[in-house]
Amino acid sequence: MKSSIRAFQLWAILLFILSPSAFSAQPNVIVIFADDLGYGDTSCYGATKVRTPHIDQLAREGRRFTDAHTASAVCTPSRYCLLTGEYAFRGDHWSPVFLKVGLIVDPQQTTVADVMKRSGYATACIGKWHLGFGSGAPDWNGELKPGPLELGFDYYFGMPVVNSHPPFVYVENHRVVGLDPNDPFAYDTVAETPIHEEKMGIDQIGGAKAAHALYDDTYVGTTLANKAVTWIKENKNDPLFLYFATTNIHHPFTPHPRFQGTSEAGRYGDFIHELDWIVGEVTRTLDEEGIADNTLILFTSDNGGMINLGGQDAWRLGHKQNGELLGFKFDAWEGGHRVPFIARWPGKIPAGTVSDQLISNVDLIATLAALTEQDLQEEEGSDSFNILPALTGDPEKPIRDHLAFAAQRRTHLSLREGDWMYIPAQGGGGFSNPNVGTHPFGGYPALHFAGQVNSDMENGKIKPDAPKAQLYNLREDLHQTKNVIQENPEIALAMSERLSKIVSSKGTRP
Ligand code: CA
Repeated sequence: MKSSIRAFQLWAILLFILSPSAFSAQPNVIVIFADDLGYGDTSCYGATKVRTPHIDQLAREGRRFTDAHTASAVCTPSRYCLLTGEYAFRGDHWSPVFLKVGLIVDPQQTTVADVMKRSGYATACIGKWHLGFGSGAPDWNGELKPGPLELGFDYYFGMPVVNSHPPFVYVENHRVVGLDPNDPFAYDTVAETPIHEEKMGIDQIGGAKAAHALYDDTYVGTTLANKAVTWIKENKNDPLFLYFATTNIHHPFTPHPRFQGTSEAGRYGDFIHELDWIVGEVTRTLDEEGIADNTLILFTSDNGGMINLGGQDAWRLGHKQNGELLGFKFDAWEGGHRVPFIARWPGKIPAGTVSDQLISNVDLIATLAALTEQDLQEEEGSDSFNILPALTGDPEKPIRDHLAFAAQRRTHLSLREGDWMYIPAQGGGGFSNPNVGTHPFGGYPALHFAGQVNSDMENGKIKPDAPKAQLYNLREDLHQTKNVIQENPEIALAMSERLSKIVSSKGTRP
């Protein structure tokens, strides 16, 4: 009798563990990771030449952060930081990956998707991947493995590299969509794809006409939005983790025709309008499916706004992609990595609030581990801080006392500590560095300015007597107009030493 009661109890416990209701307390998590969206690119962060009602609504219903950063100012390493919770410089990743690069994340490494899977979530990555496929190099004609599915995602659909660089196709799970084995990819030939501007890449890949024909960059935004909506609907009975990496607003600026001409900032602004619509598609779906109240949405960007071909047009029309911040994408200056960050979770995150907590995309894994009540192993998310208390409450003390930043150039690996920002070299460290002069991709006018006045620069060049490194007090000088390193040598020295310790350490997670 006793043993049958015990058996019944075990069954009851097992049924409880296996039943969907056991997970009902687990909120869905949707990370919308915009591409190249700058600090000044949305109306809730001060833009006046574009209108972003859906993103603004997230801010009204949630919390807007004013001191949120990506740990790298470049697409690929920024994504590496977000997924692994580890600074990308630890794996020596500084630059975007292109056509011939294999997966740069070790499948043995724990990703944020692994953490969510451990807690019973359905996981998907939809959108721009940009972390490589395959071991060593991708075989575009074969199985693209390892890739997102080997890093904890149940499903993947999206762009393998980026809008501007080949291959111009979609990938679903392990395969290029629509690939005809009788018409394979051919390296070093150019694809006949309806790509509308700024097609780049020394390494070209043509052939595969059927697969290329399915890809038209004007319809990438709407295609990805529809995939995200479909995946949410099909998986809504599980707790959801969706990493939705839009290609908006990376160049080329190719909004669907219905958004063209709708902004006052040219095609650049129109592409922001399409991004805002994409956000609205996600929130509308959550409302319609009745799961909005149990969903944490995090909306942010992979790096700061860029001053490129269309970006320059927008600038001339009075739009400032990074607001009044100094510098652009690729830079160690604030414009390179201070980004919009909005968190909405009805009933859990106080609506309409603003936070000045220092937070980063590298913090996602520790935060979602805390959300799902998991302890990370020592080697997991080694630079990730749990910022959940800053999402749902108002911690009296800063969660982070420091944060490291990578620019395009490894000479510009920089450190934030309290109000202070230390950059161990001159200039921004990105393509807008006045020493570079022209954009290396070619075709762009010279980029002899940083968007702001800076005491080390004159006529777009570093002054001959400028200090060899930079120090800014962001509380007094958020726009980095005056380098105060000569007035504060002891602070610079201490930060330089701390940065060295961080680089040589295995991690910084508390
Ligand atoms: Ca980017």
